[in-house]
Amino acid sequence: MIDTFASVLPEYRALNLLTTPVWVVSSHRREIIFANQAAERLSSTSDLDKLRHGSHSAHAEEVLATYLPALRARESIIEIWTLCRNGVSVPLSCKLSLLEQDSESEQILVEGILSSLPTPVSQFDAPRDQVLYDQLFHLNSAPMLLIDPAADGLIVDANLAACRFYGDNRENIHLKHTWEINVLGRQVLPIMSEVAKLPGGHKPLNFVHRLADGTLRNVQTYASPFEMNGKRLMLCVVHDVTEQIRLKNELEHAASRDPLTGLWNRRHFLNLLENAHHQKRRHDVGYSILILDADHFKNINDQFGHEKGDQVLTSLAKTLQNRVRETDSVCRWGGEEFTILLPQTDAASAARLAECIRTSAAEMQIPNLPQITVSIGVAQHESEESTESLLRRTDAALYQAKALGRNRVVMC
Ligand code: GH3
Ligand code: MG
Ligand code: MG
Repeated sequence: MIDTFASVLPEYRALNLLTTPVWVVSSHRREIIFANQAAERLSSTSDLDKLRHGSHSAHAEEVLATYLPALRARESIIEIWTLCRNGVSVPLSCKLSLLEQDSESEQILVEGILSSLPTPVSQFDAPRDQVLYDQLFHLNSAPMLLIDPAADGLIVDANLAACRFYGDNRENIHLKHTWEINVLGRQVLPIMSEVAKLPGGHKPLNFVHRLADGTLRNVQTYASPFEMNGKRLMLCVVHDVTEQIRLKNELEHAASRDPLTGLWNRRHFLNLLENAHHQKRRHDVGYSILILDADHFKNINDQFGHEKGDQVLTSLAKTLQNRVRETDSVCRWGGEEFTILLPQTDAASAARLAECIRTSAAEMQIPNLPQITVSIGVAQHESEESTESLLRRTDAALYQAKALGRNRVVMC
């Protein structure tokens, strides 16, 4: 379902005069806040996730906000988005730029590139330029592929570095097509023909390539048009970023997870809460939260030791995770206290879930350890309320559950 943005954001109405599709994205809220009429005509969805991660999508960065430093420095950034019209997916090259800068959030302007204007192309004629070609292509230490987009993505040539990287000889690679080395398979073809129209020089796009021995590698590909013997080809420089991505994921995991239980940590939970807050403001979908605290937990540590206490916390974390829906988020708030975010959930449903969680926690069996109980505070977000106020109210409900004798749920 497409939203009518014009009535919401009159300052963008002028963008409706453009015949090219244009989207305005809030980098902070990770959502589209405006689509002009051309964009609405072209695509039946304004869901940022579907556009950026559809079957024909390709990008350099997973999270849009990561582009901000490059956008501020006016670097050229192109993404391929997937538009869906009448059930048919089509790729569209989009140019990203910074629209507005204020301290709260920066807005990214995404302009669809509809027509492929003739772009400057490097031209080579064999055998006249053979020496230069050999020097630039074959002796280059970066893996490079020369691809013919018009021939089903046939790899016309591969340099030595590419043969080493893919673990194959030049003759074999020569017989392959891009869709045989890209895990997207033939789905990569529409993306490739979009990329082939671009002048190059933009940030590299991310793909996963398969080596000859079946190993998968994360790669960034720099593509630019290249004309050889009158044929319009695509020169593709391949940069292996597998290790970089692994380290990035590891860091992201460490920054957002609690090391003992593997649940979200407080920092990440607060981000999720902010997101739920923005979603509610925009779509008017209510959400609730729970704060749960293990009762008399100090006794467990005192009687059985800290290590056994840790074991109980890990089991409790598993119980919570198993009880909630996939869209809910469980966090270790700190110590023996947990928070749960329940999107699109009213207070009554949240209280019912809290009751199930309370029962499950009380039924938890851990060998050689006594059973525990938990107290839970529940609150639904009230209109115009800040997230701080919601947390305060829920905490007060938890405090009341403790005061009333523990092992109970109190809704505020
Ligand atoms: P109440 O019912 O009022 O919540 O009582 P309580 O004993 O659970 O509360 P209190 O705040 O007095 O004590 C919390 C205990 O939780 C004390 C601390 O040793 C324990 N705790 C906090 N974090 C950890 C942890 O990571 N591992 C273990 N084993 N214990 C922890
Ligand atoms: Mg406690
Ligand atoms: Mg506590």
